[in-house]
Amino acid sequence: MTSPETKKRPWWQQIPLTVQILIALVLAIALGIALGAGNPSPANASLIENLARPAELILKALRALAPPLVLVAVLHTFMTAEIPGTAGRKLGILLFTNTNVAILIGLLVANVVRPGSWGKFAAPEGTEGATTKFDPWGLVQDAIPKAILEPLVNNNVIQLIVIALSLGIVLRAIKSEMVSQNNQAYKPIEDIISILFEAVIRILNWVIALVPLAVFGIVSKTVAKEGFAPFISLGAFIIAVILALLLQACYYLFMVKSFSWVNPLNFLRGGTDAFLMAFSTSSSGATMPVTFEILQTKVGLRESSAALGALVGANFNNDGTALYEAMSALFISQVLGQHLNLGQQILVVLTSIFASVGAANIPNAGLVTMTLVFQSVGLPTQYIAVLVTVDWFLDRCRTAINVMGDMTVSTILDGKKPHTLDS
Ligand code: ASP
Repeated sequence: MTSPETKKRPWWQQIPLTVQILIALVLAIALGIALGAGNPSPANASLIENLARPAELILKALRALAPPLVLVAVLHTFMTAEIPGTAGRKLGILLFTNTNVAILIGLLVANVVRPGSWGKFAAPEGTEGATTKFDPWGLVQDAIPKAILEPLVNNNVIQLIVIALSLGIVLRAIKSEMVSQNNQAYKPIEDIISILFEAVIRILNWVIALVPLAVFGIVSKTVAKEGFAPFISLGAFIIAVILALLLQACYYLFMVKSFSWVNPLNFLRGGTDAFLMAFSTSSSGATMPVTFEILQTKVGLRESSAALGALVGANFNNDGTALYEAMSALFISQVLGQHLNLGQQILVVLTSIFASVGAANIPNAGLVTMTLVFQSVGLPTQYIAVLVTVDWFLDRCRTAINVMGDMTVSTILDGKKPHTLDS
């Protein structure tokens, strides 16, 4: 969803966010070196600590925005998605399978490469809590909140999922009943949810506009205090994420080859415009019209299958994001030297599914919902600040995979028979 800006934006907002982040990175490294690059003078200690304050505030804002974003995104999807019966079931199964495969690939690569053990970070300020034990019964007991609004207040992700799903399912059922009776009474609620969704995203955009400031603070503080050693594991993390995303792309090509009439090479060739657009905008939402168009004109799918994957799937199918969320949680647990046991990794799978559904199809949205994944296994969310420094790049890569996931779903829904004049 985009916000129509009619006013002329100030000059600094006309510089693309990526360029702003790159400038912040260069300035931060220069300042970090000037402040000691690992051997800071005690006289600068408080200045160095204060450098990270903007990042702490930005993270606080992201943590606060995550629960309402997930809630309205799930409600919006349930209220507005137009999905016909059988195709809808097939779509649901495909989306669920693909997202789970993505998360499992992410966890596998993170467990094998162990990027978090390649270098050490000092704990960010105010790091709270240690990883919690996995307690399935405790989770079930805790899943029902004491009050409807409680999960919004205490950021409890499992409770939030329960509330969002119950409300979403029931609202959709009520809408279907009303539609069959030609009753329009559901419309105001649908409009309110759409407006709230747009409002949360606009506030999110304000926070995201401040990300270069956070990057500047975190990088300059890290370089000043610890030199360049922490960036070794961050480099390993980038490589691990790219490797996992590539494996996911191979899985898509395998699915296209096995379950559709489309040749995987034509799929790749036809999808180039959409992949490039996704990579350059970091937004599968902005890429949506291109995806829809090329699926019909270049890949040759029927309009109905193109619409289901590209228009419906694009709203909540974010496999690249799911993979990234799970890998990030594992990466930070490795950085902390805290082992996430199987139970906790299952919890990461569960929450990553919802975090990816809740991540709107706009730049950096995955970073916001990641706070929920971290909280579910008791990882300190302060470490997300470290990931902010590489998110501008990894977001582009995972968005391209998000779009490829939508295209794969459309292609499989198109079936084993090519589009001919009689179909
Ligand atoms: N930028 C991604 C997308 O638009 C969402 C995310 O941040 O993971 O698909």
